[in-house]
Amino acid sequence: MKQELISIVIPVYNEESNIAWFYSELKTQLIKKSSHNIEIIYVDDGSTDRSLDIIKDLAKHSDTVRYVVLSRNFGKEAATSAGLAYASGDAVVIMDADGQHPIELVGEFIKLWHEGFEVIVGVRSGNIGEGFVKRYGSVLFYRLLRIIGGKSVTPGTTDFRLIDRKVVDQFIKLTERNRVTRDLIDWLGYRRAEIPFEANARHAGNATYSTRKLFSLAINGIVSHSTRPLKIIALIGSIISVLSGFLATLFLIQRYFLGDPLNITGSALLALFVTFLVGIVLVCQGLLALYLESVYYEAQNRPLYVVRESK
Ligand code: UDP
Ligand code: MG
Repeated sequence: MKQELISIVIPVYNEESNIAWFYSELKTQLIKKSSHNIEIIYVDDGSTDRSLDIIKDLAKHSDTVRYVVLSRNFGKEAATSAGLAYASGDAVVIMDADGQHPIELVGEFIKLWHEGFEVIVGVRSGNIGEGFVKRYGSVLFYRLLRIIGGKSVTPGTTDFRLIDRKVVDQFIKLTERNRVTRDLIDWLGYRRAEIPFEANARHAGNATYSTRKLFSLAINGIVSHSTRPLKIIALIGSIISVLSGFLATLFLIQRYFLGDPLNITGSALLALFVTFLVGIVLVCQGLLALYLESVYYEAQNRPLYVVRESK
């Protein structure tokens, strides 16, 4: 039987002080121990430090190491996609370059893969040495996602995962530009298993995912998978309009039929009229949103369904 090949995809952005160290860890903890063939695919995401030199040097000395170089910094999501497109393994593992993803877990991933799971996801249970913003930001994000996006996702799911060749092939077909890799893989479905892990502290350097980038990733995560926010606007608008219309009717009745006991001023009526109109404007926006929604889903150009296997 042909020996299975496992690809390890590692997006790299300015990780000069981590690459060589992480590679030697991979070598001792995984490559030497594993009964599988292993290829490591570094995706250099437009690093401006010595990362690429180090990668090329590793590749020169070992056939296990391959690399893809992007023309500029496209962001981790795009870099990961490039790595997936380039990987030729029967299964692909996605890992960070900074040592936060424990290598021991890859063996567990492979075990579950052999049991027939096609997507095996590392779920972060704790985060050693992670700041306040990230810790509470991610808690908040998953809450928001549940409320606004109407989706229930396991909190802490990461990009650290193994995916089967079948999943990789489907992933490559997705064309949308606003992408969050893990969400797209989740969207594809397939048999899924989750393994909890404690993220290590970064080996060296600082996380390059700034708070701003994380925030826009969070927004993307919500917007690219749900149009519920658009509909919430319409709902709020109609509530405002109905309420103010109702109040205005009451005011008019008490003024002209009951002799104005509440002593409503003209400006109060005007204010009510304005809120009524604002409500209507919001409803119209919501209506537009419904059209936008269908255009949006078409423009995403995702396949309508995904076939696991066929004969
Ligand atoms: N990364 C990348 N392109 C970017 C930012 C980050 O390829 O624009 C890589 C980075 O080198 C690392 C991984 O993505 O391997 C995770 O980045 P980081 O550790 O900065 O973020 P974290 O998710 O740990 O906060
Ligand atoms: Mg990191």
